[in-house]
Amino acid sequence: MTETVTRFSPEKQDPAARPPRCHCCGRDAPTAAFPSSRPGFQVLRCPECGLGRTWPPVAPGEIGAWYPESYYGRENVRFNALFEAMTRIFRRRRARVLHGRVPRGPVLDVGCGRGVMLDHLRALGYEAHGIELSETAARHARLRLGLPVETGDFLSSPHEKDRFHAVIFWHTLEHFPNPVEAVARARELLRPGGLLAVAVPDFDSFQARLFGRRWFHLDVPRHYFHFTPRALEAILSRHAFRVVRTDHFSFEQNPFGWLQSLYNCLGFPENLLYDLLKAEGARKGLAREHPLAVLATALLLPPLLAAALGMTVVEAALRRGGTFEIYAIKE
Ligand SMILES: [Zn+2]
Repeated sequence: MTETVTRFSPEKQDPAARPPRCHCCGRDAPTAAFPSSRPGFQVLRCPECGLGRTWPPVAPGEIGAWYPESYYGRENVRFNALFEAMTRIFRRRRARVLHGRVPRGPVLDVGCGRGVMLDHLRALGYEAHGIELSETAARHARLRLGLPVETGDFLSSPHEKDRFHAVIFWHTLEHFPNPVEAVARARELLRPGGLLAVAVPDFDSFQARLFGRRWFHLDVPRHYFHFTPRALEAILSRHAFRVVRTDHFSFEQNPFGWLQSLYNCLGFPENLLYDLLKAEGARKGLAREHPLAVLATALLLPPLLAAALGMTVVEAALRRGGTFEIYAIKE
């Protein structure tokens, strides 16, 4: 008599199944790491592989309510003029880094937002495609930039299989209720030898460990999962990807993670600095509502920024940066 062995397939698992089972290693007893600062949620950590997750997960049909208009910005302008300009510079840099690793051809940005990076990739000679959940952001990419951007679910998107030279998840994989399913789908769409590029917050970083529930990059409940390099590398190798590079320094993400988390720990209203950097529409009222906190935020900025920049260099040197970027080849 042959015994049937059921292999654990996280890509087929219902992410809300109880008790929760680790999507990376299959272990079924994640421990509570800490309660979230959002009432009703906690953050679990797998004792085996370190993968974190937000519990309970918000049902996919209800997550839209957690993305207010200000998340994308009114009229698609997300930050004030200075930070909008910086965001554009960072997007161009991302495009150039990818250009150094991917031959020209079709590329797909999953969760492409307003299409700023795709626009740069197109300028570098790529056939730039995007998919985005937010209709307003996608419309901006389509109408203003003329980019082919689909709206809707990546898992059932109309893209052709084995076609793309690169599939990019830039701070989007953690927003998937089942990221393992998304990795499997990316593999389907990539041509053999194609590059998967992923950037996510590092749940095992110094800033994550130090700040816990007040860590800026935790972003509960929008982030369903909280990755570590080890967990993500394991997920990728299980899907026959060969990891070619992991980077731990991001000037775009990591200093701000320190800075905002420091303010959060000092008792300021949560993510106040981040809200102050947003476009005027979203910022309105903050100075009136928290005048002292806004003043103190400004006064403390020079020393805290200096500390944040210093810590960013230290954590990256020790490969424990607040976010990491991973590049893997489809074998
Ligand atoms: Zn695990």
